[in-house]
Amino acid sequence: MSDTSLTPDIQSRLSELADVTLDERLTFADLTTLHLGGRPSMVVRCATAGAVAEVVTLLDAHAIPLLVVAGGSNLVVADGDLDLVVVLLADDSLTVDVSTGRVVAGAGAVWDDVVAASVAAGLGGIECLSGIPGSAGATPVQNVGAYGAEIADVLVRVQLLDRATGEVAWVPAADLELAYRYSNLKFTSRGVVLAIELQLNVDGLSAPLRFGELARRLGGAERWPVAAVREAVLELRHGKGMVVVESDHDTWSAGSFFTNPVVPVDVADSVQEAVRASRGDADADRMPRFDAPGGQKLSAAWLIERAGFAKGHPGEGAPVRLSTKHTLALTNRGAATTADLVALAREVRDGVRSAFGVDLVPEPVWVGVSID
Ligand SMILES: Cc1cc2nc3c(=O)[nH]c(=O)nc-3n(C[C@H](O)[C@H](O)[C@H](O)COP(=O)(O)OP(=O)(O)OC[C@H]3O[C@@H](n4cnc5c(N)ncnc54)[C@H](O)[C@@H]3O)c2cc1C
Repeated sequence: MSDTSLTPDIQSRLSELADVTLDERLTFADLTTLHLGGRPSMVVRCATAGAVAEVVTLLDAHAIPLLVVAGGSNLVVADGDLDLVVVLLADDSLTVDVSTGRVVAGAGAVWDDVVAASVAAGLGGIECLSGIPGSAGATPVQNVGAYGAEIADVLVRVQLLDRATGEVAWVPAADLELAYRYSNLKFTSRGVVLAIELQLNVDGLSAPLRFGELARRLGGAERWPVAAVREAVLELRHGKGMVVVESDHDTWSAGSFFTNPVVPVDVADSVQEAVRASRGDADADRMPRFDAPGGQKLSAAWLIERAGFAKGHPGEGAPVRLSTKHTLALTNRGAATTADLVALAREVRDGVRSAFGVDLVPEPVWVGVSID
């Protein structure tokens, strides 16, 4: 056993902590929406924020590798045995203040439960984020977003355990450097979000709709009753396999597998010319490209399709396929391994690179395995 392993002594100290339960049978296949990944040395389930802080501080003090996990919907984890302890967040506390629009959720609260409760209370601002799997505490980690909204729009502050000092404090959202699918918590061990606080609006209406497909579905880009927006978003997401439904393998995924690439304008021009040469003017003229900090944002799904990968690729019987509903989701058809997933991820990334010279970057967090 190495010095950084979970010794019987530390294991017994963990088991004595309040609101903590240990489980050595669970694997990442049980814990992730991809249903992939091997066995951690232990899963430590923490039912309160205090338990999370104590467990993480104890493990850090002994330099024992740990991974914070909540819904497991943004994780790609290696097969086999993993020398790390999972700290499973299970504080699902939720306070919705109808009169002020303040919402405070424990890190382990199911994100869509937070949205549903807020919408039911007539609070507006997160209805476009309906149906996103995972936990409240993870929403700031990659600044979750969908249908023209992102958590940065409404996040006031997070209760953060600073792993360098062991201190717990409320930190303003501005300290997290929230950007497109990014914060300074992602890919780092800066801290653990123990709770989030949101400021929603109290007039029962959504923010003005910024996403064309959603605005068309509702009949205009203005503000709509929040319940109507939630219903429309859930319908659109179900149609794309972007709500987890256990019986549907198109949803055994990590959501959008690659971020939409942001490239300099001249690169966007050359991609469009490459599409023009291979597929003609009509298709090239429809290429999605939007101004974004750093250049122009392209659509990863559109590029994947133009590079020759259709929905369902590589076809029936394969252990891992692109979703049959959405080219941007890599899906486990039931008996896959992480190695199968990584092979398909590489094939897609390499295909887009060789067709257009654009490098797609995976969106999920990778543990013990890499696309490179
Ligand atoms: C079908 C599907 C659709 C999706 N659609 C979207 C979408 O529309 N928009 C979008 O942005 N994302 C989407 N995702 C990705 C995912 O749902 C989000 O990233 C979600 O916020 C992850 O939450 P989680 O609790 O499952 O995190 P996990 O997968 O458990 O963890 C992800 C990472 O965050 C870290 N982490 C988790 N909780 C905390 C915490 N409290 N403090 C510090 N670090 C933490 C973990 O250590 C890990 O590194 C989708 C995923 C799926 C499967």
